Amino acid sequence: MLAKHSSNYIHAPYWQAAIVPEKTEALINRRDLPDRADTVIIGGGYTGISAAITLARAGQKVVVFEADAFGNGASSRNGGMLGPSFSKLGENGLERQYGREQVHATIRESLSAFNWLVNFIRDEQIDCDLQICGRFRGASHPAHYAGLIEQASEIAKIVDFPAIEISRAQQGEEVGSDAYYGGVVYPTDGAVHPAKLFQGLCEIAKRDGALLFDHSPVRQVIKNNSQFIVSIDDKKITADHVIIATNGYTGGPFGKFKRRLIPIRSAMIATEELPESVIRSVSPKLRCHGSTERLSVYYRPSPDGKRILFGGRSLGYGDCPQIYHKYLQNFMTRLFPQLSNAKLDYVWSGKIAYTFDHVPHIGVMDGMHYAMGYCGSGVGRANYFGRKIAQKVLDQAEGYTIFEEFPFKTRPFYTGHPWFLPAIMKWHSLADRLGF
Ligand SMILES: Cc1cc2nc3c(=O)[nH]c(=O)nc-3n(C[C@H](O)[C@H](O)[C@H](O)COP(=O)(O)OP(=O)(O)OC[C@H]3O[C@@H](n4cnc5c(N)ncnc54)[C@H](O)[C@@H]3O)c2cc1C
Repeated sequence: MLAKHSSNYIHAPYWQAAIVPEKTEALINRRDLPDRADTVIIGGGYTGISAAITLARAGQKVVVFEADAFGNGASSRNGGMLGPSFSKLGENGLERQYGREQVHATIRESLSAFNWLVNFIRDEQIDCDLQICGRFRGASHPAHYAGLIEQASEIAKIVDFPAIEISRAQQGEEVGSDAYYGGVVYPTDGAVHPAKLFQGLCEIAKRDGALLFDHSPVRQVIKNNSQFIVSIDDKKITADHVIIATNGYTGGPFGKFKRRLIPIRSAMIATEELPESVIRSVSPKLRCHGSTERLSVYYRPSPDGKRILFGGRSLGYGDCPQIYHKYLQNFMTRLFPQLSNAKLDYVWSGKIAYTFDHVPHIGVMDGMHYAMGYCGSGVGRANYFGRKIAQKVLDQAEGYTIFEEFPFKTRPFYTGHPWFLPAIMKWHSLADRLGF
């Protein structure tokens, strides 16, 4: 059944309704930019701000440049779903290439990353609607169910990460759709209000002394002996260290990074406020949800439990809400016919960055530190990697991460424009239909 579409929506993240811009705005005018800093961070999302907090707390003079408004990349646009992201790692392929021990170490560290962020939010008392609500991952094809169970039991041999098998007969307790063939619940996964989390981080960074400059795109970074000269439009600043934290928005001045990333647009819709009975008819336990499809969708109730937030592909590289809202709304009502008459209040998109090996990357290139390529699972990872990269700048042993052992590879002739994506998407779509 197709939904009646209403174009009467706001083309902006639902999350913006709850935020206070002053919390992320720059405190000082760009005229007052200092001539030098210990570290300049390029990119004001979770990665950049998390790094800024660690560096500022260690006493460094830190400057963060953000091309747009702070958080207006993916960090205030995402679904706020939080977990160790094991399903994103593609561990079988990695194991063939790098060996079992290295892959097991990434699994252990992925869980530590998730736990670290949850503890950080609690310790710092960041008011971001953190809920350990659990996640249901549905098998989109009968053959996928066994794979989900097997993956859960393999993970359980490596780390203490509970997973509950849910048969097709039981799944009505977890999700109000017949589209799945059973699934698995990860009860310790969580959710946050991503923009409130981001604002909380910005407040900490500013309180700890980091200098945040919005609407300040970095145009060039030049290495001059042991120092860097960083140029924005009308100013230059010298720094001992530079951190690149631009993820899906990595652009021209950083061609070497850009050609190692595959930028993809991901989109979301938020329904109007709905009665609790309707929300629970979709998600009886108010969990986060995903599936085993290659071109999967994800959804969850809003933190106040009044709306369904539903995300997935944006169908193209540009931000074309008139196209992707229809695709997502049709997908949502195919899964949940009970939402056929639900109007949409918010429609938005943002850019994520995939890597050729599906692993996020952290390290040093041309003397510049970087952390990026979270493959669509960056709420936990970006915050954790931001901290790690700062510890590396500080030359602290805790900065070590198993993820630095993976070489950050590109492909011959690839410049950062993923011309091959439409063909890959078609292949994935066919594979989904056939249940591969
Ligand atoms: C619609 C959507 C849904 C998502 N859902 C989830 C989810 O539920 N769970 C999850 O874990 N992850 C999710 N993600 C992914 C997650 O949001 C990202 O991985 C994470 O926010 C990346 O953080 P970041 O700081 O590295 O990058 P970003 O937040 O994207 O920040 C990069 C910043 O760099 C800036 N920049 C770029 N070039 C320059 C320059 N030259 N000078 C200065 N600044 C520059 C950009 O303007 C941008 O603000 C989702 C993403 C999207 C778009």
